[in-house]
Amino acid sequence: MSEIHKFVFDGLPVRGVLVRLTDAWVEILRRRASNTTHGAYPPPVQAMLGEMTAAAVLMQSNIKFNGSLIVQVFGDGPVKLAVVEVQSDFSLRATATVKGEVPTVATLSQMVNIGNEGRCAITLDPKDRQPGQQPYQGVVPLFGDHKEKLEKFSDVLQHYMLQSEQLDTTLVLAADDKVAAGLLIQRLPMAGAANLSGMATQADEDQIGINEHYNRIALLASSLKREELLTLDVETILHRLFWEESLLRFEPLQGEGGPQFSCTCSHERVSKMIKGLGADEAHSILQEQGQIEVGCDFCGAQYRFDAVDVAQIFRLPDELPPASSAVQ
Ligand SMILES: [Zn+2]
Repeated sequence: MSEIHKFVFDGLPVRGVLVRLTDAWVEILRRRASNTTHGAYPPPVQAMLGEMTAAAVLMQSNIKFNGSLIVQVFGDGPVKLAVVEVQSDFSLRATATVKGEVPTVATLSQMVNIGNEGRCAITLDPKDRQPGQQPYQGVVPLFGDHKEKLEKFSDVLQHYMLQSEQLDTTLVLAADDKVAAGLLIQRLPMAGAANLSGMATQADEDQIGINEHYNRIALLASSLKREELLTLDVETILHRLFWEESLLRFEPLQGEGGPQFSCTCSHERVSKMIKGLGADEAHSILQEQGQIEVGCDFCGAQYRFDAVDVAQIFRLPDELPPASSAVQ
């Protein structure tokens, strides 16, 4: 069962989340493997997408936000795009577009950052977004401060968190064909006037010694091995890492309230997409192929539209016409 465990370190400005995706992750892989056009992911892509999925769930559970959190990697290598979308109720979906050969043992940069042009985007799309309002998006490169290529997806996100939230974050991620898991440890903003006014500098906080606790806990967290994260249960992991710390645990999110695979595609959404192509384009596809067939990359659903369906799509009115044209 997929699960999310949140905790804080008693009396310290440090919090954490541990996520283990099992059934939800296996479902994503199963749907991909049964897709006759694409087939299963090469193992390195599977590992990358799994780490992204665990990370997206960690981030969604770490913020108070009603909407979808989307993590995307735009690659300049054989993996062109990898996308994970997690809703506030932790329903999630993920997919990757592979165009070309992925080596059996490929690094992150060999997949998505060959020319150092790869990018990672995090989007927060509120559920109640008003028309015309843009979703919030932050973009980071896949290289470090000295343009060196980052080979761990966790390093990319740590950069992003530091940049966007100004919060020190430690991430450990791992995925195989059965589990996608991650641990996040974050230093909470310090309390007090200095923090509120945004005047606290790194040096101030070091002097106060506020980082001491975070540094110790982050070091413990980074000692967690990939193999342990994939094979050990949550209780064992937390005990092994933090047995000397005092942890306050929240009720775990699992089962109905936990992470689950779910796709938001629908006949209506695909109809809108076809409408977006325009009548000329839609009819030329109809002429060539006899029908318009659209497959969902996330869940594998196939949507078919024949000539009658397409005529129907273009017969429906758009939005209400503007007042001026209604008068004419
Ligand atoms: Zn779908």
